[in-house]
Amino acid sequence: MAENIKENIQSLRTHRNAVILVHNYAPGDVQDIGDFVGDSLELARKAAATDADVIVFCGVHFMAETAAILSPDKTVLMPDREAGCPMANMATPRELAEYRRKYPDASVVTYVNSSAEIKAMSDICCTSANAVDIVGSFPENRDIIFVPDRNLGAYVEQRLGRKLILWPGYCPTHHRILLEQLRETREQHPGAPVIVHPECRPEIIAEADAVGSTSQILRYCRETTASEIIVGTEIGILHRLEKENPGKTFYPASPIMDCPNMKLNTLEKVMWVLEDMAPVISLDEETAEKARIPIERMLEQS
Ligand code: SF4
Repeated sequence: MAENIKENIQSLRTHRNAVILVHNYAPGDVQDIGDFVGDSLELARKAAATDADVIVFCGVHFMAETAAILSPDKTVLMPDREAGCPMANMATPRELAEYRRKYPDASVVTYVNSSAEIKAMSDICCTSANAVDIVGSFPENRDIIFVPDRNLGAYVEQRLGRKLILWPGYCPTHHRILLEQLRETREQHPGAPVIVHPECRPEIIAEADAVGSTSQILRYCRETTASEIIVGTEIGILHRLEKENPGKTFYPASPIMDCPNMKLNTLEKVMWVLEDMAPVISLDEETAEKARIPIERMLEQS
């Protein structure tokens, strides 16, 4: 059954001149049929550079939106339109307008995990891979409103020794792990280094041996001499880690770190969207044009 689906996807991909972009948190079998698997920044770059006519984006809604913003001449499809991001939903244009009024001299740095409307109101975007560098590129005396992830923002503050105006949003998947759970996992695997994503709580980050975006976690695990590693991010990444590092063993910092939205991507749905050419992710032109500016600024600086 799965083999038939994969064969159908393969012929539809060729027929539609489609590229399938897959986030590191998507289910393993979806990662395996992707033309490219990566983090938000890598996938944004691929979306901007592809010469395919169709992009099938196996991630969550804001990622497909970013692809549509960067490739207005392509058809961007999502296997499941319901795959949203709770953290992105924690920032609304009305609230950001209030922040802008309250801090009129502040610049707005927005994590790509946000809606197109929020990006359109921002000065520059960032990802978890480049947030420290992007914020660090602003003069020391400039106030920065950091939207929407307070944990990533707190990590940037700590790395740069600089206070930011933090939006109170968070990723439920990463926020879910508590210090006691991480310590318990450490006790079960003594000696294994811990690497976590900066969307985790500050006390988790303080406890870890290393911190990084998904691409940085992948690199760390490739390069470390340790044969057992504890990984504190969405558990979908374990598939790729195990595939790329056959001699090493990976443990989730907590087995409950899963993102139900990422898991809405399935092989069947990838096949169906390529058959139906729907749902198409599109934006009104004005929002897309305004949102493109902070994303392109980020890509130029990264
Ligand atoms: S893992 Fe967190 S930030 Fe990523 S899509 Fe899921 S809820 Fe959003």
